[in-house]
This record gives sequence, structure tokens and C-alpha cells, in this order.
Amino acid sequence: MKHQDLLRETYIEINLDRIEHNIRAIREMCGPSTNIGAVVKADAYGHGAVALAPVLMENGADLLCVATLSEGIELKQHFPNYPVLLMGLTRNEYFDDVLHYHLIQTIDTFEQAAALSQSAVKHKQTAHIHIKIDTGFHRLGFLVNEESIDQIEAISHLPNIVIDGIFTHLVLLDNKTNEEQFQLFLSVKETLDNRNIHIPCWHIADSIAGVDYPQYRMDGIRAGAILYGLKGFHKGELELRQAISFKSRINHITHIRAGEGVSYDFTWRAEKDTQIATLPFGYADGYPRNMHGKGWVTLHGKRVPIVGVICMDQCMVDLYEVPEACVGDEVIIYGDGSANTMSIQEAALLAETNKNDIVSRLTRRPPRVYTRKGEMVKVSHFFL
Ligand SMILES: *Cc1c(COP(=O)(O)O)cnc(C)c1O
Repeated sequence: MKHQDLLRETYIEINLDRIEHNIRAIREMCGPSTNIGAVVKADAYGHGAVALAPVLMENGADLLCVATLSEGIELKQHFPNYPVLLMGLTRNEYFDDVLHYHLIQTIDTFEQAAALSQSAVKHKQTAHIHIKIDTGFHRLGFLVNEESIDQIEAISHLPNIVIDGIFTHLVLLDNKTNEEQFQLFLSVKETLDNRNIHIPCWHIADSIAGVDYPQYRMDGIRAGAILYGLKGFHKGELELRQAISFKSRINHITHIRAGEGVSYDFTWRAEKDTQIATLPFGYADGYPRNMHGKGWVTLHGKRVPIVGVICMDQCMVDLYEVPEACVGDEVIIYGDGSANTMSIQEAALLAETNKNDIVSRLTRRPPRVYTRKGEMVKVSHFFL
């Protein structure tokens, strides 16, 4: 595999050894009996779900979790044998697809469950579902009350429906709110147990809760950010490695004089005579446009500032501190924070957002380059 295969100087590199390290570390942390749902929605947070799925499933994950039907279908077309949970809701009109691809559907009303049961009977299939409980987040789920319990009981008697699991999601405001949600969820378990309805997999924890609150791991965790080496937890101990980096190369250099401006609206003007390098990436690749005035890239191991407004496909940097730079020189847009590179964490701070947003907004225009032991092993082009 050669760099010419990329067709472009801007690309995203994913270190698969680091993904493997992270999922193994999570498995070690959880022990053998906790299910690990690997959350690979949003194209595995920009890393590429199809490329990562086998690395995750072969190194400790039990289940793949996505948000939407199309994300689930993409995975099932490549890996029909991996179990895939749709954590979002699906409209009844698509239940034939849910069944065709053997996807596990999240359900939060009796009506949906009845419609899915009907489709399953029609196709002579069994539909597998997880029930969603709303313990306070107020996004999805049955509210915790008597009527909901009656409905869940009724769902458990529907033909061709198997309830594989039941889950809720934490607000993560503070320990007190977490604990209230957890206790409410446990009360659902107690009530269902008393009615002799036994659901095998109870889960509440995402990455942060899964690391910081071992008591919340229950039968399984839904791990997203930590798979990719993005740390949001505070208390727990888990040694992770960020797997993604974002790279490009200088494709044009121009000399400008003191007082001359750069990019739309001349928001930046040179104080001294300098050289400006043009880099072929912009906000359409997923680089935050609000990095304007704050962004920098790493060139020859030094931080060089992005100057002027960030364009859709390009941006410019001031070469004043790196006058020897040439067309073709590599720049690191995001690295792991070592060697003067901008980590995802730092990018999130500068762009005033969170790490998951920084990586999941990376678009499919930059090809993804996968490495093992420092060698390119696969390139994904989404436009070809
Ligand atoms: C995205 C998501 C997760 C994973 O969140 P992380 O913070 O990335 O671990 C877990 N559960 C649900 C329901 C989600 O939507």
C-alpha cells in the first residue's frame, strides 16, 4: 500500500494496534462476565465502523451498538454474524428491514413491540429487543411507573419477541443524580423479578460510568469514547491510547508583505513580511470552523498558527517561525498530544465542544488509513 493510493494529501490515520489495546484493557477492567457493548455509531466516532468492528469483536467486545438502522445495516452487510443493537428507535414501517438484517431493536412502547412481533410472525422469525427505561434523562424510554411495568409484562408475552436486555442512560450530573437513576432502574428490576419476568442483560453505564462506577456495570456496559482512547472519566484507572490522527501536507507557499491580509474578510494581517502555507483541509473535512484565531498545526515538530478564516477545503498557516518549510512537508492537524501535536482533548477545548464531537464530525471526505505496527494495512475511500 502506498501513499499515492490516498489520492489526497489530507487523511485520517487510525492505529488499529491502539484500538486493540483499548478494547483489551476494557475487557481486563470489566472481568470476563460483564458484557461489553462496543458503541460504533457515527461510523465509530469517525474512525470507520467496518474497519474497527472485527478488531473490537475479536478482542473482547460482545455486541456492537449503533444509533440508526442504516448504521446497523452497514455493519450487518459486512458481518452478518456480529450481534448489533440499534440504540435508537426505528419507525414501524422499517421493521421488515430490522428483521431481514437480524438487528436487535430498542423498544420503548408496547405499540412498537406489538408491530415488531407482527412482522416477526409474518416472516417466521424471532425479533430480539432491548427495552429502554427513562430514569430521568427524558430522551427515550418507558417512564418508571405501574403502567410501564404492565406494558413490559405484556411485551414479554408477545409472540416471536425475545427481550435480550433492558437499559437506561445516565445524566452524569453528579453522584446523587446518578445514584437516584440507578436506584430507580433497580426498582424496575425488583418489580419485574416479582412478576417472574427475567431479562438477562441489565445495563446503565456508558464509558464514564463504566470506568468511574464499577457498581453500575451490572450485566454490561456500553463503551464508546474509551474504545477510541478518549478519556472523560475522572476516578477510575484505565490506560488508554488515542488511536486517531489527522494529517495533511503543504500544497502551496506564498510570500506576503507586512500589512497584507489572508483569507475572507482579511481577519488577519501580517505584522512582518512572511510566508503563508496553504493546507488542503477545511471545515468540510470536519475541522471546526470556529478554530478561527485559535487553531494551529504541527510542522517540523513546531506549532504553527492557522491564520485568517478557515475555508471549506483549505486553510492557511503563517510560516514565520518555520521559514525552511517546503511544499509537500507533512503537517499534523490532530495527534495524540505528544511531540507538540494537538490532541483531540485540546481540539475540543479550543473549539468549545467535547471530544466525541471533534471526532464524529470528521467527514468521509478524508480517506481513512489503517495501520498495524506502523505499516499501512488498509485504506478506506468513501467516494470511490
Ligand atoms: C453514544 C451512547 C453511548 C456511548 O457513550 P460514550 O460516552 O461515548 O461511552 C452509550 N449509550 C448510549 C445510549 C449512547 O447513545
